[in-house]
Amino acid sequence: MRLEVNGLKFEIGRAVIKLGTKQVTDFNTIDHANLEKFAAEVAALRARGVEFILTASGAIGLGRLQFKDKLGNGKLDLSRKQALAGVGQIELMELFKQKFAAHGIPVGQVLLTHAIFDNRNTYLNARNTLNTMLEMGIVPVINENDSVAVEEIRFGDNDRLGALVALLTDSDLYIMLSDIDGFYSDYGTPESKLMKIVNLDTEPSLARHAGDKEFNLSTGGMVTKLEAARLTNLSCVPSVIANGFKAGIITAVMDNLREGTIFISNRCKLSQKKRWISAKRPRGKLVIDDGAVGAVRAHKSLLPSGIRMVEGKFLRGDLVLVAGTDGAKVAAGLVNFDAGECAKIAGHKSAEIEILLGEHGREDDVIHIDNMVVY
Ligand code: GLU
Repeated sequence: MRLEVNGLKFEIGRAVIKLGTKQVTDFNTIDHANLEKFAAEVAALRARGVEFILTASGAIGLGRLQFKDKLGNGKLDLSRKQALAGVGQIELMELFKQKFAAHGIPVGQVLLTHAIFDNRNTYLNARNTLNTMLEMGIVPVINENDSVAVEEIRFGDNDRLGALVALLTDSDLYIMLSDIDGFYSDYGTPESKLMKIVNLDTEPSLARHAGDKEFNLSTGGMVTKLEAARLTNLSCVPSVIANGFKAGIITAVMDNLREGTIFISNRCKLSQKKRWISAKRPRGKLVIDDGAVGAVRAHKSLLPSGIRMVEGKFLRGDLVLVAGTDGAKVAAGLVNFDAGECAKIAGHKSAEIEILLGEHGREDDVIHIDNMVVY
């Protein structure tokens, strides 16, 4: 299907749609009608040749609904949320199973954690499974494995999870359904207006427009949606924010964006390896001087001479962030030296590496450009 907006053309063969908890439950009832309409729309668009992968939140919300009399409306600690997610996830899948079965479409559950994205093998396994499901005509329904994901390995919000899934599966579009119509400039002020297209390269500072609302069942907001849009756009995959409560919303988005805001960039598609690098969590940081920032931005490997400061305890092969002395994030990449070695060779020429480390045969660069994603 072709999506055309303001002269820009996007061919959409595969799309990821993220449903928020609010599309599933308002904490008093389950929104069956909304889910039925959604399944009917996805079925109709599939018949027009688009493959869909869904990320569905609502495990904690649905679990909580079942325990409402015992737990009330108050804030819950992480272990209770994890326990309730186990209860709600079954129900969430049952809902999707029923609503899609009405159209003869099988759904399959895939629960992911950040640890799966960190490891190249498990990352590739997840990718293979999702591709096989799609080949078999199954609609994958993805959520975070909330019951086992402790704080340090949590995605936390499904906006990011959906973005990573879009990159993992080579999707052409990522749609985040929310309870607002899209992205507003100057949110909450009289000048505020809905933007149709946002180019993330030319409008880098969007946070001030974002605004945010609190909701105690879900964790995402406009800020996490913007970060997710940046993530997919690193690899030239556009993201859309649209109102999941409007009838026919997916069709309206796919039909030349009659609804929603599309986030685009002037980036090129990244290789699968670089997509994986952009999904990994950093273990440390290298602060580099202005000359090195220029070189990295010109897509050159990072050499030790440009390193000013080393932060964190990372090992060779870990992902580290690369930042300028002003704190701006410049890149992220797989590092050829551990943190201690980086500190020893920082500020030195590549030719001195072997003498400084007392070891032959080490790399000349700290991060090779092929292992680096430039922001
Ligand atoms: N994974 C959580 C759930 O299913 C939701 C996370 C989010 O709100 O983005 O309840």
